[in-house]
Amino acid sequence: MSSIIAVAKRKILLQKLLISVKKHESEVIEALYKDFKKPAFEAVISETSYVISDLKNSISNLNRWTKPKQVWPSIINFPSSDFIYSEPYGRVLIISPWNYPFQLAMCPLIAAIAAGNTVVLKPSELTFNTSQIITKIVEEVFDVKEAVVVHGGAEFTQSLLEKRWDFIFFTGSVPVGKIVAQAAAKHLTPVTLELGGKNPCIIDEGANLEIAAKRIVWGKFVNAGQTCIAPDYILVQAKEKYNFVELLKQEITQAYGENPEESTDFPRIINTKNWQRLQAMIEPSKVIVGGVSDEENRYISPTLLDEPELNSEVMKDEIFGPILPIISYHDEKDIERIISKYEKPLSLYVFTENKQFAEKMITSYSFGGGCVNDCMIHFANKRLPFGGVGHSGINAYHGKFGFDSFSHKKSIVKKPSWGDNPIRYAPYKNKLKYIKKLLSWL
Ligand code: NAD
Repeated sequence: MSSIIAVAKRKILLQKLLISVKKHESEVIEALYKDFKKPAFEAVISETSYVISDLKNSISNLNRWTKPKQVWPSIINFPSSDFIYSEPYGRVLIISPWNYPFQLAMCPLIAAIAAGNTVVLKPSELTFNTSQIITKIVEEVFDVKEAVVVHGGAEFTQSLLEKRWDFIFFTGSVPVGKIVAQAAAKHLTPVTLELGGKNPCIIDEGANLEIAAKRIVWGKFVNAGQTCIAPDYILVQAKEKYNFVELLKQEITQAYGENPEESTDFPRIINTKNWQRLQAMIEPSKVIVGGVSDEENRYISPTLLDEPELNSEVMKDEIFGPILPIISYHDEKDIERIISKYEKPLSLYVFTENKQFAEKMITSYSFGGGCVNDCMIHFANKRLPFGGVGHSGINAYHGKFGFDSFSHKKSIVKKPSWGDNPIRYAPYKNKLKYIKKLLSWL
């Protein structure tokens, strides 16, 4: 029982957290810049203001979410009142990644506390400065019995995973997701896994290419492409390819200037290991735009690659950097051949003016979530669940879905002592025809 936080206390803690996040907002923005030159604009829209809005939403809905939800009873149990109680799992482990290091640590924490759990939070070791400020905020708001931040890399995280938890929430790569799932299986611990994948972005014949280029350049190169739901590769109708590539080039220059290295709006790659991984994707490829890089500054310019082979380095796994392969297709069979080569992605985007084509793409493939004529923005709506399917993840969160993800749903039927129907009790002699009739009405 001690690993559960009472509803009234949860609200107080979330209110204190809101005050603390607001108080330290500028330090968070500074830390993000120190870690990988995340521009203040991106830090505000995708990290601090997102967390603040999540806190406000959770605080204002907490009473409604936590109240047992009454559902229609079954006539077979008449008379009864039926409820779903949301029960905190208890002791929760949250493991977060480096790419949106503040938001992806704080939003699961908010959902876990709203649902009444106690939390051990392990932020990424790759964003030292942001992890320090997360610790400062958590220490300012929570008693150690309620929430605590711990630090370490892979080995330390594995030692945490050996312990028994009541729930594990992991955001990160597919290979580490498998390590988490294996560790959780030992104790049958429920998990949410927020992973990644190769997200296709389909450009149909007749699509509005100007708007597609603008939105894709934003979605792909924000955070220097280090976003789990960024378009991973473009599938463009062969007839549209030339015009579309020209528009992408223009949009890149419009957004980041002739030399993106000088732009204050373009972040750096998180570390040398990732820089080298990305560089190995560019070297053997045909570069249409960009391909400029500098190891010392962990810089890679916005890069477009022309028609890479599906077995080339860049088309093997999720890219997770500012490199965008352009692949042309002739018909829907080409699209299917390419998308089906990969595990279920976290996102899929389709740019088209043809509603039937959009519906076909949305319903023919399995993926976490996506957009028609845009990319990434499904993330922003708290009324939409955010999560993957298959290799891109298990379960979902955001808004009420986050509260639900961190809660066990307990079914309760409340019966009065009166109105007892004797038909269910043995001896059953002569009752079968009556029960069959009764069941046929249900
Ligand atoms: P990662 O899997 O390397 O690390 C994530 C966390 O796991 C970190 O806290 C890290 O310390 C820990 N970790 C790393 N190696 C480990 C190991 N061997 N054993 C145990 N723990 C280990 O991921 P990352 O590089 O921080 O983030 C990038 C990945 O995360 C991408 O694949 C991206 O798609 C995914 N991601 C997914 C989402 C989502 O919401 N679905 C959001 C952001 C990032």
